[in-house]
Amino acid sequence: MKAGYIASRVREKTRGYVEVGRPVIDICNFVEDNIKKLGGAPAFPCNVDIDRVAAHYTSPLGDPTVITDGTLVKIDIGVHVEGYIADTAVTICLEPRHTAMVEAAEAGLEAAIKMVRAGVAASDIGAAIENAIKSRGFAPIRNLTGHRMSRYIVHAGQSIPNIGGTNGYRLKEGEVYAIEPFAVPRDAAGQVIDGAPSNIYRFLKKRKVKSDAAKKMLKLIQARHRSLPFASRWVVGGVSGGAEAFGELVEGKCVHSYPQLVERSGAPVAQAEHTMIVESDGCTVTTA
Ligand code: MN
Ligand code: MN
Repeated sequence: MKAGYIASRVREKTRGYVEVGRPVIDICNFVEDNIKKLGGAPAFPCNVDIDRVAAHYTSPLGDPTVITDGTLVKIDIGVHVEGYIADTAVTICLEPRHTAMVEAAEAGLEAAIKMVRAGVAASDIGAAIENAIKSRGFAPIRNLTGHRMSRYIVHAGQSIPNIGGTNGYRLKEGEVYAIEPFAVPRDAAGQVIDGAPSNIYRFLKKRKVKSDAAKKMLKLIQARHRSLPFASRWVVGGVSGGAEAFGELVEGKCVHSYPQLVERSGAPVAQAEHTMIVESDGCTVTTA
C-alpha cells in the first residue's frame, strides 16, 4: 500500500513535468528522485516510451533524447518498499489526435479493475479489456500482458492478457497484479517485437569475469537490486572504468539485457496501468 501510494503521487506529479523540449533523462531522474524522497525505491528504472515504443526504454547516461511535439509519451513507474512492488503507468498525450486512443487504454483498465476478485478467470478480464478498447474503435496489443507480482519479483508467473480466451487461470485472494492494457489504431499490427537494447538490465548469474572492477560491480548489483531490473546509468556513473566493467558483465552474461518492445507496424501506442490486491469480493487498487 505504501509503495502504491508513492507510485501514485509520483505519477501525478510527473504529468506536469513532461513537456515539449524536456530531456528524457531529466524525466527518469525526476521520477526516481521523487520515489526516494517519499521513502520508496525504484522497483525498476523509470520507463519513458515514446510513440511506437510500447515498453522498456530508459535513458542511458548522457541520453540526448528530448520530448518532441505531436508524440505519445508513456511514463511507467515502479516503486518498492522492502521488496513489495507497485507498478503504474500513464500516457501523456502531446498529440490531440490520439486523445481517444489514450482514453481507450484507460477504459480497458477500468473495465478490468471492475472484474478483479478472487475466482475470476484471467481470460475473462482479458475479454473485458479487449471489448472496452475495440468498442472505442481501437485494438489491444495482443502479446503484452499484465502480470502477478511478488516480493522482489516484477513478473511472478501468472499473466493477465489484454485479449479474451487465452488464459483460464483463476485469480486468488491476496495475490497482487499489475494490469496494463495497451491500445493502438485498429489498422495497426497490434503486436510488439524486440527492438534495440533498452538500457534496462537484471542480475542473472554470478560467473567468472576478468577485471576486479567488473567483479566488484557485479557484487554491488546483486546486493542492491537482487532480482529487480536496474538501469545501466545507475551503476556505470561515478566509477572510473565503469562502462568497461559493465560491458564485461553484459558480454559475460552475468546480467540480462532487456530489449525495447516496439509496435511491429510502427503505430503509436497508448498504455494505462494500475496495481491491485485481489480480495474475495473485489480488489484494492494500490496506485489509485
Ligand atoms: Mn509498468
Ligand atoms: Mn507492469
